[in-house]
Amino acid sequence: MKFTKITASIGPNCEDKNVLTEMVRAGVNVCRLNFSHDTGDVQGAKIDIIRSVSKKLGTPVAVMIDIQGPKHRIGDFKTEEHYPLKVGQKFILDSDETPGDENRVYLPDMDVMRSLSVGDRILLNDGKIELKVDAVFDDKIETTVIRGDEIWSRRGFNLPDTDVDTDILTEKDKKDLEYAITKNPDFIALSFVQRAEDVAYVRDFITMRTAQPIKIIAKIERPNAVERITDIATAADGIMIARGDLAVEVPFEQVPAISRHIIRECRKLNRPVIMATQMLSSMVHSEFPTRAEISDVANAAYLRADSTMTSEETTIGDNPVNVIETMNKILSYSDKDTIENPYDWSRIDNIPENDWSRSVSSMAHLNKAVAIVVFARDTDIATQISCRRPDIPIIAVCDEGIIANQLCLLRGVFPICDKYLFGQRDAFASVRQFGIGVGKLVIVDDDKISLRTLE
Ligand code: PGA
Ligand code: MN
Repeated sequence: MKFTKITASIGPNCEDKNVLTEMVRAGVNVCRLNFSHDTGDVQGAKIDIIRSVSKKLGTPVAVMIDIQGPKHRIGDFKTEEHYPLKVGQKFILDSDETPGDENRVYLPDMDVMRSLSVGDRILLNDGKIELKVDAVFDDKIETTVIRGDEIWSRRGFNLPDTDVDTDILTEKDKKDLEYAITKNPDFIALSFVQRAEDVAYVRDFITMRTAQPIKIIAKIERPNAVERITDIATAADGIMIARGDLAVEVPFEQVPAISRHIIRECRKLNRPVIMATQMLSSMVHSEFPTRAEISDVANAAYLRADSTMTSEETTIGDNPVNVIETMNKILSYSDKDTIENPYDWSRIDNIPENDWSRSVSSMAHLNKAVAIVVFARDTDIATQISCRRPDIPIIAVCDEGIIANQLCLLRGVFPICDKYLFGQRDAFASVRQFGIGVGKLVIVDDDKISLRTLE
């Protein structure tokens, strides 16, 4: 059994129903739809396909909608050519909408203008260009080029040193989220979260529009979010380590250490955590992963992340099914190894001895149980037990589709959505669905914990 889950980004090369069916068969647990690209009914149609694949295969699959968030962009240049910026030269960002040149460009975002301070860095084009702010005026920012490269219209930029005084949802995001909510997604992922209040704001936005318990995943991709990880993870329902933007905004050598720290925090706080970006990038065109990629995927399993994620290797890759099969193979082997050789690199030591979820996990361990069965009214109990990372599967039986889908993200949790099994509290029939025929079971039903032997 594979304990680490797979979140697959869905794009042009894997929207086809047959391809998606093969991907789910190969191990996809969560499908991520990125609203930075398509929006509205184009994405809606993909959600319908995912739902129908899940139904056809009888396997819960979660839908995660990723909201673009306040990604900053510069304005247009005079021509579509690339303009060289040279080290040491001055460059101005201003509120003048006329097209830019090698000395200045329009900055559409007044929130950014207001938030910058002297000495702050502005990183353009994934950090290839670095500007340092020399002076701030009401209508312009004067900078010096520290690292030069070519620049052109509407490039994105990152502000690693700045607490940007901006709303988490842009006008586009609000429209996207309004639409997304009508499609009953299981998760909403939020980009460029900076503080717990951002999550609370979106939580209100959602609860004002639906009674569905949609979960919020905060993407950690800014240094100020890393600093506030405890508050943000507490406010959110889960975390994505968004290494793409994160490695631009923090010195890249810090990303592995930050990832470990975030995984540990999430486990303490009972929040699932996704390791994301460039895990199998070379497979956009290659049939095989690089050695380094194999290790990266495996290490996510050794660190006991809940899920790994695919990005462009599935959205625009030559063979998305092969990517999932490859990831599945690496995770299955590494998960088996973590169980057989249980040294936990992401060990957390300060969960109290009398914490009930820890008791469940150690009761299972001491009795050599073969599975933990949870009758799940919501996701809380399964989440807490999962975060103790027991070395046996957690079979979670529920009677609501959204709960089963949300359980898909949790490490080592195998959801079953079945009104009858849930109503009857039938632990034996539930585990048999996963081929478990003999052994001891730890059964958790609300606050009742019991041990039974399956023969
Ligand atoms: P993105 O998020 O693909 O939406 O940018 C992931 C990341 O930044 O790593
Ligand atoms: Mn990002």
